[in-house]
Amino acid sequence: KRQNTLSVQVFPYGENRKLVLSDDITELERTDSMRRDFVANVSHELKTPLTVLSGFLETLREIPLEEDDRARYLELMEQQAARMRHIVDDLLVLAKLEGDIKSPGEQAIDMGAVLRHLQDDAMTLSAGRHKLAFDVEETLTVTGVETEILSALGNLVTNAVRYTPDGGSIKVEWRLFGDRAAFSVSDTGFGIPAADIPRLTERFYRVDRSRSRDTGGTGLGLAIVKHVLQRHDALLDVKSEEGRGSTFTVRFPPQRSVRRQTIHA
Ligand code: ADP
Repeated sequence: KRQNTLSVQVFPYGENRKLVLSDDITELERTDSMRRDFVANVSHELKTPLTVLSGFLETLREIPLEEDDRARYLELMEQQAARMRHIVDDLLVLAKLEGDIKSPGEQAIDMGAVLRHLQDDAMTLSAGRHKLAFDVEETLTVTGVETEILSALGNLVTNAVRYTPDGGSIKVEWRLFGDRAAFSVSDTGFGIPAADIPRLTERFYRVDRSRSRDTGGTGLGLAIVKHVLQRHDALLDVKSEEGRGSTFTVRFPPQRSVRRQTIHA
């Protein structure tokens, strides 16, 4: 029996969110403290790989090593540098999205191409460790910024692969759901405890820190997803059960959901 299944609409948040603004001082203090937390988080996230990197550098300098060991050290150092680069790249993407400048280039996105791209990436990342299924309605499109949509949906698929043990299954669907275009990715992975679901889109929030780190996570993916979807007036819904798996569903508004009559129009 699936008793613990929880469905949480992650956003839009409650309507009364605006009421808080009437108390200006409290709101300013809150913003200020969020900013401090953010800076502390970023510093901490970068400091960890930096410390490891410095340690290896010191060893390389101080201790004469066999060629094999030296190569292994250099590889580990490259990994830490790549990790820092991922964090900085994701931070830059987030900063741009949060800057509130609407990106140019809204168009009817070729979702067939986007989905093929996601499938290729999933196959590469999974490297045969999972069963992957894609069920795609090719004639269905949405209006939006292609690079942003690709990055948001890509994050959801990547997470499904990364948080599903070997031998598990991942299913991606793209189809009309009522009058809304809907994208969903279901996995048979680790799942997410109910209490964590509302916090998933916070920057650097992770359910399992070491698992995220081991799989190359930055803790920023779902924060990026949230911003992209908000810019597209889309909704994110998360259903998950610990130890059984998760389903992330994105629903676009009807006015952005278009079914093409002819493919070569
Ligand atoms: P990360 O880079 O750590 O994956 P995200 O913002 O993409 O950061 O996700 C935040 C956290 O949400 C992850 O660390 C993971 O604990 C959890 N999570 C996201 N997607 C899934 C999933 N499909 N299954 C289980 N846990 C997930």
